[in-house]
Amino acid sequence: MRKKVIAGNWKMNHNPQETTKFFEEFNDLVKDSNNEIIICVPYIDVNAALEGTKGTNIKIGTQNLNHEEAGALTGDISCKMLQDIGIKYTIIGHSERREFHHETDEFVNLKIKAAIEHDIIPILCVGETLFEREKGIAKYKIVTQIVLDLDGISGEDVKNMIIAYEPIWAIGTGKTASSEDANEVCKWIRDEIRSMYGDEVADIVTIQYGGSVKPGNAKELFSMSDIDGGLVGGASLKPDDFAKIVNFDK
Ligand code: PEP
Repeated sequence: MRKKVIAGNWKMNHNPQETTKFFEEFNDLVKDSNNEIIICVPYIDVNAALEGTKGTNIKIGTQNLNHEEAGALTGDISCKMLQDIGIKYTIIGHSERREFHHETDEFVNLKIKAAIEHDIIPILCVGETLFEREKGIAKYKIVTQIVLDLDGISGEDVKNMIIAYEPIWAIGTGKTASSEDANEVCKWIRDEIRSMYGDEVADIVTIQYGGSVKPGNAKELFSMSDIDGGLVGGASLKPDDFAKIVNFDK
């Protein structure tokens, strides 16, 4: 049985004071959860988040990293810097970074390798646009992303990874994929992992769904056979809403 992993993606929201306040309310609401809880915060909130979750069952991640250890890369934060402060998770390849920062699959692949080398678990995001879905090439797009993004990464490392299926048309739009459609795509991803790495890796790797997950639809989505939890944007910003999603099985 795979554990459910529920991750929040705060995107560009909350300052350190708001972060401290969030965890003062949130920690208690999820302390008895059986599910794994990760919250990926903006860089400036990392200290407040690590401080605010000390001794709890909540893990803190970031939303990006630079694959270089150090250097002349204005505005970036390196994999080594994150490792040095104890970060264990990071989102990589979110569609907003692929779109607004022109991140290619080759670049995503470098970031995944750097994260793994620095003991940081990547939450790799893949997903299709509405246009690609309507043209019938969603599977092609997602399988291509998986093959390119995981190039050169071992099965042992993929076993520990989290892959999030995030249909781009469902992110922040209020439109959610039906649980059947979301499960079908998560199964495509698992089948591709199976053909690349074999049964053991495919049966262990965590595959999440993300895209307008809310307290009202989390249970149905997360109860599907190939969906091992979710990556949650907007609804992770309020302690009460996110706690309801984390506690979907209570
Ligand atoms: C996301 O940013 O990864 C996401 C799924 O956002 P939302 O839940 O707001 O659609």
